[in-house]
Amino acid sequence: YSLIKMKKDIRSLNLKELCSFFESNDFPSFRGNQVYNWLWNKSVFSFDEMTNISLQLRDLLKKEFVINHIKIDNIQKSKDGTIKNAVKLFDDLLVESVLIPVKNRTTACISSQVGCSLDCEFCATSKLKRIRNLNADEIFDQASTINLQSKHYYNRPISNIVFMGMGEPLLNYKNLILGIDKITSKDGLGLSPKRITVSTSGISKLIIKMADSQVKFNLAVSLHSAIEETRNKIMPFSVKFPLDELLNAIKYWNKKTGKIVTYEYIVWKEINDDLRHINALVKYCKASPSKVNLIQYNKTANSLFVSAEDNIIDKYIYELEKNRIPVTIRKSRGKDIDAACGQLANKLINQ
Ligand code: SAH
Repeated sequence: YSLIKMKKDIRSLNLKELCSFFESNDFPSFRGNQVYNWLWNKSVFSFDEMTNISLQLRDLLKKEFVINHIKIDNIQKSKDGTIKNAVKLFDDLLVESVLIPVKNRTTACISSQVGCSLDCEFCATSKLKRIRNLNADEIFDQASTINLQSKHYYNRPISNIVFMGMGEPLLNYKNLILGIDKITSKDGLGLSPKRITVSTSGISKLIIKMADSQVKFNLAVSLHSAIEETRNKIMPFSVKFPLDELLNAIKYWNKKTGKIVTYEYIVWKEINDDLRHINALVKYCKASPSKVNLIQYNKTANSLFVSAEDNIIDKYIYELEKNRIPVTIRKSRGKDIDAACGQLANKLINQ
């Protein structure tokens, strides 16, 4: 019987490893630099595109490696300019990445997992099982692909990245950090970490781990309620991550990184549209330096969730501002193509 050798993704090798691969196969080590450049600066999909490499050498590479670059499977464009990409991975699984143009900025919203293991009742992605974590290259590829797309459609590179696509980024911690390292490095996209925001549902112990590693990107926490009972109802997994523990982690984050957390918050009818919830949020926000981003709710199949009236949202803003807590409202983008937060669920594919 034969043992099938799984070919390695050449992109899992760093520059040094690549150069020593060539040396050990009796090629000059600078070939490593050339191939590295093809892989990371030119983002090629195949060895045949490496035109300054001999055929003989390309054959050797093909025998040993594969290039598992992501591929855009489908593009949908919204009236407001938002572009949603269905992205195909090497094993044919799909995730979604979104390009959001706003005035002079373009933001890439990218996914960290195929599906999600959390169970936020108001989020369409949570209805998909978590199938697997994305690897670091797949995270980087989404950013670089959207970057090209931004240049193509809007004549400018991406200016910001938010990890607000499918999945819980902190539950794919190692690859998230590696992916961001690549995105921020000179031979990647060279994007400043200050322009990257990781959004988490609030996994306290991993927020502490990030703080300890002195990461330079921004942190957003999906709070949605500062009352334990409500939060446990709408985000059942959070029973394991109580609000006081979360707050301690956020305080620690602030102390270690000097950065201010952003709380993402949706106001729903009969869920958190009363004074008790407003006061709880104000109190929570005052406990550690923070900002609030009020997010417009995007409809999903779960009819229990309905956006609160504008006057309630105004009341939230009034009380937060009265207590000197910065608050912004995030308008929803790409709603007509289900590209908005919480709507990413491969609708197109599953139909
Ligand atoms: N798992 C991470 C990142 C993905 S969700 C997290 O929870 O933060 C990105 C943001 O979209 C989160 O703030 C999430 O609470 C929000 N969101 C989820 N469903 C939504 C919906 N239907 N409408 C608006 N925002 C939603």
